Amino acid sequence: MSSADPQVETVVDLDAIAHNVRILREHAGDAAVMVVVKADAYNHGAVQVGRAALAAGAAELGVTTISEALELRAAGITAPILSWLNTSDADYAAAIAADIEIGVSSTAHLRAVERAARASGTTATVTLKLDTGLNRNGVSSADYPHVLSLLQELVAERVVHLRAMFSHLAHADQPQHPVIDVQRDRFVEAIAVAKEYGLQPEVVHLANSAATLTRPDLAFDMVRPGIAVYGLSPIPEISDFGLRPAMTFRARVALVKRVAQGEGVSYGHEWIAPHDTTVALIPAGYADGVPRGLGGRIALRIGDAEYPNIGRVCMDQLVVDLGENRQGVQEGDRAVLFGGAPGDPHAQRWAELMDTIHYEIVCSPRGRVVRGYTGQAGVV
Ligand SMILES: *Cc1c(COP(=O)(O)O)cnc(C)c1O
Repeated sequence: MSSADPQVETVVDLDAIAHNVRILREHAGDAAVMVVVKADAYNHGAVQVGRAALAAGAAELGVTTISEALELRAAGITAPILSWLNTSDADYAAAIAADIEIGVSSTAHLRAVERAARASGTTATVTLKLDTGLNRNGVSSADYPHVLSLLQELVAERVVHLRAMFSHLAHADQPQHPVIDVQRDRFVEAIAVAKEYGLQPEVVHLANSAATLTRPDLAFDMVRPGIAVYGLSPIPEISDFGLRPAMTFRARVALVKRVAQGEGVSYGHEWIAPHDTTVALIPAGYADGVPRGLGGRIALRIGDAEYPNIGRVCMDQLVVDLGENRQGVQEGDRAVLFGGAPGDPHAQRWAELMDTIHYEIVCSPRGRVVRGYTGQAGVV
């Protein structure tokens, strides 16, 4: 271990990303896989994950903003990239110049894309995002006829090319929920209506991770998984689906010391030593993405053993109890907060304790946390 090792880091296993993409491809059958790398690939690094996913057989990448898409292009990624959440004043000219597929959710969005395409004299590639019941992003049913007639004109003029139509599910994590079928039926109906306007998308897609893994009937031409790519089951109560968590969050023991019976540890002395003991100081706290609400409720793996966190989580540190027998733990050792190796604490456990989902847990490490990679030598 070199002294250059960061105090607190996430390590992303790109072999796990590749493994998870292969599992998703199996479930997708004949459908292509678009890997969702929004929010910097759920905090795993969009460029590195994007490259590893494409090398493992993903066909396309999906992001929310144009700037996320441009970052991937700037890194040399040439695969199709869809950006689906932008305001009407976004830089559509830059998206068109970089051959980014633009998701539109309203007539106003489509007008903005039209202006940019006409100004540059380049056909814009557009994907319609349809609201089939999530009532979030996507073309509303009231706006739909206006979007279709404008699109019909723009396609005829070759200002716009219609690549795809897609929608997003509200209840995919409950595979038998009746709203899933309502959304599927609305989606199919909306595609049929577009055909009445002479509009024929090349591909249509609906399924996120949960639907990809549990509803093969919804695969259409492409699936659009995010969280499963990162190795976290979208429905942990059903199965882990053989996925491998890609992110390990770890820190290096900064100090090992004795604490006498009756002494309190950390702010507020919420933990009082019941007997003489040895504790280890871990330089990771709530500024690094360890929720303060987990204080005294988690355990960290050091070597082959788990040690309980004692007392409050502070801004940049927490303490674990090594017990009577410190089992060789010493300054500089790595302590795993959560990870993907056998015996590692799991992000899902943190999510349960915080009454949230593991998506939010893996998006939490930030600030001084340094991100590194293992696996896929030659890809990064
Ligand atoms: C985030 C997102 C996905 C991926 O969802 P997961 O549950 O992470 O698989 C797919 N499609 C859209 C539109 C999204 O916003």
